[in-house]
Parts: sequence; structure tokens; C-alpha cells
Amino acid sequence: KQTRKKLVAGNWKMNGSFDSNEALILGFLPEVDDLVDVSVFCPFPYLAQVAKLLQEQGVAHGAQDVSSKASGAYTGEVSVDMLKEFEVTQVLVGHSERRQYHAETSVAVAEKAVAALAAGITPIVCVGETLAEREAGQVEAVIASQLDPVVEHCAKFVENGAWNLVIAYEPVWAIGTGVTASPDQAQEVHAMIRNRLQAMLGTEVAQSTRILYGGSVKPGNASEIFSKVDIDGGLIGGAALSSDDFSGIIRAAR
Ligand code: PEP
Repeated sequence: KQTRKKLVAGNWKMNGSFDSNEALILGFLPEVDDLVDVSVFCPFPYLAQVAKLLQEQGVAHGAQDVSSKASGAYTGEVSVDMLKEFEVTQVLVGHSERRQYHAETSVAVAEKAVAALAAGITPIVCVGETLAEREAGQVEAVIASQLDPVVEHCAKFVENGAWNLVIAYEPVWAIGTGVTASPDQAQEVHAMIRNRLQAMLGTEVAQSTRILYGGSVKPGNASEIFSKVDIDGGLIGGAALSSDDFSGIIRAAR
């Protein structure tokens, strides 16, 4: 646990403007130090602005999605090489909103993670069950069905030393709803994910891979969630749009 530095990642979703982005970033930057990793995921059109604002500020930035394809006739898609032109070092893949509204399968998500890793970009792979799946006792089966294709596709990067992947457990019922998983509920799933990584990729990978929790994290609940042994930070949606809230969550991760 001591060797895994906490990561607080802000997912802006389809929000922002040149003015509000600047105010938001300038608002939380004073809270950033070496003790916690911080990153923000903005809409594609703002990558240049965000890259400039965050230059040499110790905050990573990235996109909310990426294509698994290198180039070609894929209207509307953006490649890893294009992201790299904006100094992107991390990218979200498989957010539940992409799975839900854009029919992304777990194999498609795995292919995106492969494209990112091959380009030296850290994919933050999102997994999580719906309320109906939880109530039906399917949490482990759903997480396994989302995680295993990613692990299988990306295992080759362990062998060549380029495994640099973050997992975000985001129960769909907790995203944007104001309902969070209890710290114990979250820890239970995080431990299950780490055990799966251990079984498939070995102890070293399992112990070094960061697993973030996402779903209605706020300054008031963040410390308790982050205190759990297998929770290595958070993926923050709504609260990442307020510099005060985002600052509070960074403080809670220290
Ligand atoms: C998210 O969309 O990644 C998320 C965690 O959202 P929220 O914090 O608003 O629940």
C-alpha cells in the first residue's frame, strides 16, 4: 500500500468552456504537491488549453476516450498519436457512460487500453456494475467480464515492462447519483479486483497497480473511502467541476 501513491483524477465529462476551465484549474492548482498525483480529463477541444495551463504544474491531463485504431476512415474518432501531440499521458477508457450510450464492449475497451499502452499513455480502465446487477448478486461476474478481456489483451505489456494501467471501480448506481458505495462495499470490490490481477498477472503487478474508486466522491466522504487498503485514490465527476471540492478531495488523499 505504501508504495502506491494516491491518484485523484477529475473527469469533466461534457462540461467546460475556455473561461470556466481556466478558473477551475487556477482554483485547485495551489493544492497540488508531490504527495498526491492529480490528473484531469477534459473534452478533446480543450486539450491544447489544458496542456498549456498545466505545463510544469505537476498535474497530468488526458482525454475521456480514444480510438483503438491508428488512423483512417473512422469519422469522429481520435487516435493515441493525436493525443500525444497534446502531451497527453493518461486517458480514460470504458467509462460507463461510453459503455451505456456508445455500446462499447469490454473487448473494445481492452483494444483501446492496448492502443494507449503501446503509445506509452496510461489507460484508466473503468469497470462497474449496475444496481440491477448488484441486486442480482452478479457483482463479481460483471467485474470479471469487464476486467478479464483487458488483462488478457494487455498482459503482453507486463512482459516488456510497459504495464502502466490504472483501474477505476465505478459502480454505475453511484455515478452522479449522490449515492456512494460504502467504504466497505468499495473495498470489497477493490480487493476482488486486486485478487484477480494477482491470479492472472502475479503479485508484483497486483500490488503496484492503482485501483481508484469513483461514484459521488465529495470532500466530505473522500478520506474515509481513501483510507481503505485497496483504494488508491478516486475518479471524480461532479466534484471535479468545483475547484473547492476538487481541492478538498486532493487534501483528503494526502
Ligand atoms: C464519473 O463519472 O467518473 C464519476 C465518478 O462521477 P460522479 O463523481 O459525479 O459520481
